[in-house]
Amino acid sequence: MLEHLKASVEAITEDDAAIREMLWELNVPSLLMSIVHMSGDTSVLSRYPAPRMMNVVEAGAGGEQLLEGGYTRAQAAQIHEEVLTAIAAYRQRGGSLPELDDNVVSELYTFMCGHELDQRYENFIREEIALDGVDQRGLNLETEALKAAGRNFPVVIIGGGMGGVLAGIRLGEAGIPYTLIEKNSGLGGTWFENHYPGCRVDVPGHSYSYSFEPNHEWSCHFPLADEIRAYFDRCAADYGVKEHTRFNTEVEAARWDEDSATWQVTVVDGNGERDTLTARAVISAVGQLNRPKLPEIDGIDTFNGPLFHSGAWPKGLDLAGKKVAVIGSGASAFQIIPELAETASELTVFQRSPAWMFPNPGYHMAVGDGQKWALKKLPYYSKWYRFWLFYTSIEGVYDKTLVDPAWNDSRSVSAANDEMRQALTAWIESQVQDPALLEKVLPTYPPFGKRILQDNGTYLAALQKDNVELVTEGITAIEPTGVRTADGVLHEVDAIACATGFYADRFLFPMQVTGRDGVSLNEQWGDTNGRAYLGITVPNFPNLFCIYGPNTNLVVAGSIAHNAESQVNYILRSIRFLLEGGHQSMDVRQEVHDSYNDEVDRINADTAWGWEGVNNWYKNEAGRVTANLPFRIIDYWQMTKQPKAEDYRFS
Ligand code: NAP
Repeated sequence: MLEHLKASVEAITEDDAAIREMLWELNVPSLLMSIVHMSGDTSVLSRYPAPRMMNVVEAGAGGEQLLEGGYTRAQAAQIHEEVLTAIAAYRQRGGSLPELDDNVVSELYTFMCGHELDQRYENFIREEIALDGVDQRGLNLETEALKAAGRNFPVVIIGGGMGGVLAGIRLGEAGIPYTLIEKNSGLGGTWFENHYPGCRVDVPGHSYSYSFEPNHEWSCHFPLADEIRAYFDRCAADYGVKEHTRFNTEVEAARWDEDSATWQVTVVDGNGERDTLTARAVISAVGQLNRPKLPEIDGIDTFNGPLFHSGAWPKGLDLAGKKVAVIGSGASAFQIIPELAETASELTVFQRSPAWMFPNPGYHMAVGDGQKWALKKLPYYSKWYRFWLFYTSIEGVYDKTLVDPAWNDSRSVSAANDEMRQALTAWIESQVQDPALLEKVLPTYPPFGKRILQDNGTYLAALQKDNVELVTEGITAIEPTGVRTADGVLHEVDAIACATGFYADRFLFPMQVTGRDGVSLNEQWGDTNGRAYLGITVPNFPNLFCIYGPNTNLVVAGSIAHNAESQVNYILRSIRFLLEGGHQSMDVRQEVHDSYNDEVDRINADTAWGWEGVNNWYKNEAGRVTANLPFRIIDYWQMTKQPKAEDYRFS
């Protein structure tokens, strides 16, 4: 059994006064859950209202001083006393926890979510908190025969970011041999490559981590890139993934050999040396956002100074006191601009479209000692808090992304979406007094038409600094000394940072992948039209599995870590099919794949990001959404729990 999910918590040694103070930092709904875990008594749930999800303005921009879940300070103070009582009894018992039966978990879940049972979420939370300590997402090959089959099933994993490291961990646990090929000199994927000033994740770190390897030491709620890279690096070291990794090595091609039912994977290392690996399965974990896209602007090669992409920021480049241009105003630019505005003598921002932003005062905040204490010491607090972050980032949000065909306003796609537009507009208006600037920074497209960014006010404050200029005239050329705009002005600068996005629609690019009967993946997909069943398997490409493949990017949060775990879970169970059945290969049926993709396209077309009036990196050149998952992440978790044999052809 994979038992590493046992909820190990450290002993509580602090006195009541110290605990009482720390409790104010904590998430009240998760505290209530912890009380029940410590006491076994659910009566506390009848003494308080169920948590309430607050809208974006209540939760972010302030308003009434309510705590998370909509609790008043008076209610929270009472709950804190109940926590102290539960802790006292728990300590007296020497830190043992009462057994909770199934009904109690249902009661906890129902209370937390504030409504009647939704079986999917309940099953999800049961899997995450794992009261029995069994990690259901790992692969447990129980019999000797299965273990032996697993040892003869070499796998190649391509890419050592969040998904690839996870796949390595899970295959290692199952005793399946694997080689991880990583093009960089270190692990972490996007967090290894992106180290521009201000680079941080815009999903809480507590969610942006593996469920079985929580990190209670994140220094910030939304950690910086270096800390995230270090987390994945540590996980890889702890689970022995590094020993299986070939660094500075790229996969050039992968070819399916029908006779031997193996993949022949050609790799090239940093010295140009080629090697061919033989694998029974290939797991591609190459990410969607790692091939930088420089803008196609006349004269881009003629600039005299440093010109670079946000995803390839020159190490050691000092822009203090320099005149700097940033092209772009998406997620990367949004983080870079406040940093450069502090040190550059002049900063010119070239914006084509403004971004919507969520008010989030905690975006740059450090995680307090109280929060770290609770994550480490309060039974099940960490698990329920993760669930709270997951649940509240989806429910009440997803519906706002869906198009109402009867709605007739180009600034929004439905009444609910418009309500959000108004709230987000108010947030922007509260920060900008100059009407000319306001007009430039107020998006005219619907919320969720592009990625909405986490904001604590630093971005618009930066744009209003004396040394910063926001230019919305189109760029016509880059010249040796600067950027020329359509109004004829030459903006002279010393350096140009292009935060202009990635070739997100070129899946598995630039590898040459050849499947059954010599079919090329590039040709099957066309250059930019990736499709896969569940984003994972592709007809004609037996035993090829993708993590973060086509249509798996999340707009309505949760965390991509949850999605990676769902995909790896599905891949492991597919491998189990192969091992149990003695099959050589499995290949998704074309009709299954096609009808799934029809559904994906149908729903995506009716979302704010698929809507015809918006452009974004989620769509390919033809306007089809190839990046995004159209479903709630909880639906996707359900869909990927167990592959169905009837969806595949086995040989
Ligand atoms: P992006 O969102 O695609 O933004 C690219 C920006 O460059 C847009 O403002 C775009 O304008 C502009 N642009 C592109 N070509 C241009 C041109 N020729 N002239 C002028 N402007 C041009 O790329 P990104 O900022 O790198 O972010 C990509 C994704 O990476 C994000 O959506 C997110 O998923 C991820 N990311 C996450 C984080 C985080 O977690 N905090 C941080 C960075 C990135 P238009 O909008 O008009 O096309």
